[in-house]
Amino acid sequence: MQQRVLVVDDDQAIRDSMTEFLGLSGFHAEMAASAEEALELISRQPVDVIITDIMMEGMNGLELTDRVKKEYDIDVIVMTGYSDDYSYEEAVRIGASDFVFKPIRFEELLLRLKRVLKERSLTRERREMMAKLEKLAITDGLTKLYNSRYFYAQLKIEIDRSLRYHHPLALMLLDIDFFKDYNDTYGHLEGDKVLIRIGEIIRSSLRNMDSAYRYGGEEFTIILPETSAEEAVRVAPRIQAGLKASPFTPGGGPPVHITMSIGVTQYCPQEDISSFVQRADRAMYMSKENGRNRISSLPADADCTFTRP
Ligand code: GH3
Ligand code: MG
Ligand code: MG
Repeated sequence: MQQRVLVVDDDQAIRDSMTEFLGLSGFHAEMAASAEEALELISRQPVDVIITDIMMEGMNGLELTDRVKKEYDIDVIVMTGYSDDYSYEEAVRIGASDFVFKPIRFEELLLRLKRVLKERSLTRERREMMAKLEKLAITDGLTKLYNSRYFYAQLKIEIDRSLRYHHPLALMLLDIDFFKDYNDTYGHLEGDKVLIRIGEIIRSSLRNMDSAYRYGGEEFTIILPETSAEEAVRVAPRIQAGLKASPFTPGGGPPVHITMSIGVTQYCPQEDISSFVQRADRAMYMSKENGRNRISSLPADADCTFTRP
């Protein structure tokens, strides 16, 4: 893609010669006669690099650099005459990427511009790589749901939020029924396909604010902020319906229905994170004990008071 460069100078001859040179060098070059005009222009369509004069009527080039660096992801190269009283240090301090002296030697400007663009693309690559790594670190590879490490971090954040705003917070725990038998009968790979599909079903059943995690091998959790246990119980049937609607056909054979046992509970203010999770686990076990493929809800302990403001 063509790189966009904006030349800002109050001297028309300089503007014209620089944009012509940049155009011939393969850039998409635009020009502005003042800092104000430059800000107006980039507010409509950002550029990659601004090359700006310092001494201009109205806002000067350093003030422009300061504004641009605070509000945009744009690199700035400043130009100044030898006699002007501006230092390289000052330009760099406010965020300029480079500094060139007037009269501009085009070949030198081109070298500096290319170096700035190269650094810019490396920074972008690094940023994208970091984002990918961060995502990887909190994602379960098989189901693409969040992993259990992230579950505990998020649960803690949601508990704090619930305490601060006096909002209810619900937790759901789901465990596949007789999954060992499924694996033993059809093989581990077919079992993995079930986990992947369940990940998709859970994701598509959630509301925007809910988040789902692969908590253990065949166990899942869902954090439901601003939701009471009664409300959370109403989310669960959507997941069961999704499972019912998509039977598995391991090895291309006849359809096999998978079910899950689900437990739901609500956070009790001041209890610690493990007692909250354990209660959701106990609710899930109630579903197992009562015949599986069902939803059970356990209220917080009797001495737990949740007061709405
Ligand atoms: P229950 O209804 O009581 O939950 O019975 P279950 O067989 O599901 O329970 P159990 O805890 O005995 O077995 C869990 C099984 O889940 C054992 C293991 O083979 C399977 N499992 C755990 N993680 C994975 C995984 O990553 N892939 C596959 N394919 N299977 C897994
Ligand atoms: Mg289990
Ligand atoms: Mg199980």
